[in-house]
Amino acid sequence: MSTATVIPIQAVSRGCSDAPVLKERGQREVFCGLTGIIWLHRKIQDAFFLVVGSRTCAHLIQSAAGVMIFAEPRFATAIIDERDLAGLADCNEELDRVVTRLIQRRPEIKLLFLVGSCPSEVIKLDLSRAAQRLSTSFNPSVRVLNYSGSGIETTFTQGEDACLASLVPSLPAPTPHAPAELMVVGTLADVVEDQFARVFKQLGIGPVRFFPPRQATDLPPVGPHTRFLLAQPFLADTAAALEARGAQRLAAPFPLGVEGTTAWLQAAARAFGVSDQTLADVTAPARERATAALARQRAQLAGKTIFFFPDSQLEIPLARFLSRELGMSLAEVGTPYLHRSHLADELALLPEGTLLSEGQDVEKQLDRCRAAQPDIVVCGLGLANPLEAEGMTTKWAIELVFTPIQGYEQAPDLAELFARPLVRRTRLSVSPTGARTATPLPAGAARTEALPCN
Ligand code: SF4
Repeated sequence: MSTATVIPIQAVSRGCSDAPVLKERGQREVFCGLTGIIWLHRKIQDAFFLVVGSRTCAHLIQSAAGVMIFAEPRFATAIIDERDLAGLADCNEELDRVVTRLIQRRPEIKLLFLVGSCPSEVIKLDLSRAAQRLSTSFNPSVRVLNYSGSGIETTFTQGEDACLASLVPSLPAPTPHAPAELMVVGTLADVVEDQFARVFKQLGIGPVRFFPPRQATDLPPVGPHTRFLLAQPFLADTAAALEARGAQRLAAPFPLGVEGTTAWLQAAARAFGVSDQTLADVTAPARERATAALARQRAQLAGKTIFFFPDSQLEIPLARFLSRELGMSLAEVGTPYLHRSHLADELALLPEGTLLSEGQDVEKQLDRCRAAQPDIVVCGLGLANPLEAEGMTTKWAIELVFTPIQGYEQAPDLAELFARPLVRRTRLSVSPTGARTATPLPAGAARTEALPCN
């Protein structure tokens, strides 16, 4: 076994712990919270998400998920149409009818979420009462819960927060005198979850529960014996609901990059009495592999400037990883909401003087971005195409949520997500008219690689 010690995490004095934050409350360009259904329905394999919304919501969810027509997806939209809007139909009766038909057809469903959206008729519909009524009807075979994915008030990752917060009251209480348990909170790709489960086992930490679980019938108990680690930075309401049940949050940076993953694991190790030396021994092979891979990507990314528009709430942990482990320079780090206590360990690691902004006034922020002329911009889908047309290189924030990026094994993949568009840009040239053309290949060479869409 390696005797290497865990690399001490060096804070940059107080980093951005006390840094002023530019707060903007103007027009914003964000994706709606329904999007979370796409990764949540893959994670909780016996859950179904029924969006109560309009045709727009149905189109969004269908095209974002890219589901084939003959598949049996575990989400759908109950469309409130003109008849309902005119008051000719009783929406509650319609909803009960749709849910009954769905549950008869899909007996494997154990957990049904009624997901609210923006249309005014949906906002007026009391989905929490509908969920209670339907839960009583289908008890005990199906639990029915509700949350809002409305794009008026939420950013796209808040859909997951609202979903998990709605599930917390259903978590069972622990048995009396239950020993301390670790709960990892936030959706992780199964491959990442399995890697972390192996590391915790090697560290001798257990039992470890993941929330959300893969099966709705396997809800983890929660109570004062629970110590939880947030795996995602956008779970403010879920964390508050868990704390209200007596659980204690373990403060840590988020598990992005080698440094973030080490500090995140260290928070659990220390809470469960595992020594830093044991952590160093257990994690050494994976840390060394990831560090070596990142050194190669650092050569492509060091010195490049990045600008974050607010979208996923992953911006601050990503900025920390890109600046400290890859040497990138931060032009602006925008986030939709800044949860100071959940992000305290991240802020302490950001370089002093970083421009932090919270919320958005999109035109002003676009002006700042143009003035900064960053090498790469992280933004939502709505801004990416216009910025590309202006000659900027962009990265879709949503891709960072869909891709497994947490943990040591994924750190090089995460760096690659930023390196790839920059490498692609160097292969393209811009004509005087602004039209981009591919750099000609040497005579006789065949272009075998398709350019990635982003
Ligand atoms: S923004 Fe509102 S109306 Fe549009 S898809 Fe999202 S929930 Fe539906």
